[in-house]
Amino acid sequence: MSINFTKPETFVIDSHAHMLSQYYKDIGSVVQAAADVKVKAMVIPAVNLATCQEAIDVANLSTNLFAAIGHHPHEANEYDARSEDRLYELAKSPKVVAIGETGLDFYYNLSTKDEQIRAFTSQLGIAKELNKPVIVHCRDAFDEIFDIITKVGHKLGVFHCFTGEPSMLEKIDELGFYISFSGIVTFPKSSQIQETARLMKIDKLLVETDCPYLTPVPYRGKPNEPKYILHTLAKIASLRNLSVDEMAEITSSNTIRLFSLPL
Ligand SMILES: [Zn+2]
Repeated sequence: MSINFTKPETFVIDSHAHMLSQYYKDIGSVVQAAADVKVKAMVIPAVNLATCQEAIDVANLSTNLFAAIGHHPHEANEYDARSEDRLYELAKSPKVVAIGETGLDFYYNLSTKDEQIRAFTSQLGIAKELNKPVIVHCRDAFDEIFDIITKVGHKLGVFHCFTGEPSMLEKIDELGFYISFSGIVTFPKSSQIQETARLMKIDKLLVETDCPYLTPVPYRGKPNEPKYILHTLAKIASLRNLSVDEMAEITSSNTIRLFSLPL
């Protein structure tokens, strides 16, 4: 099943791809396979402090790869004052375009709520001070995240891998945040998420793989790769009654704007 663009200049950006050696043996070939189907650029988020330097190193392989540095809420219990220093230090790299992923996950609660809130608030403060967007992981913690962002006053970022319902859109608009959809939007049971993608402000809409997880239909069961993002893009294009070229153009320019990508 192939998805073809009609305009030669069309390209797609994967706004959230974990291109790290713990998931991929040959990152260069995965990046090339994506480029072959016009997935031209990617933002590569670290998953914790230990992988921040690697995300930057991978981003340094190409002018079209960028890094986000942060510490996932699952491991928030390991986040301390030294972590803050380390993030400030790493953020000096010109390849770092965002802080994240960070956020709150009150579904798994792999760290306590207090630990997660402390680590998230700290990273949001760093993003504010550096004037960089924040990549937010939100699971069963939307109201808490909304309150913390409002309190810190850093209204620049994206809810990544969004699985929320249309009723949340008003508050997200109030924050001015972007929303990024993963392959979940292609799943048959995702009617609420599809409705959100259909109704939200189109100038805030991004697409991502969140690879190696969440492979879109029709490749569910296989490890995910940035090249499969075209299926997520095509699904949202059909929900919005747009062509895949139009949807690619809109999501790419939104991603470039949010992360100030030099593309
Ligand atoms: Zn992720």
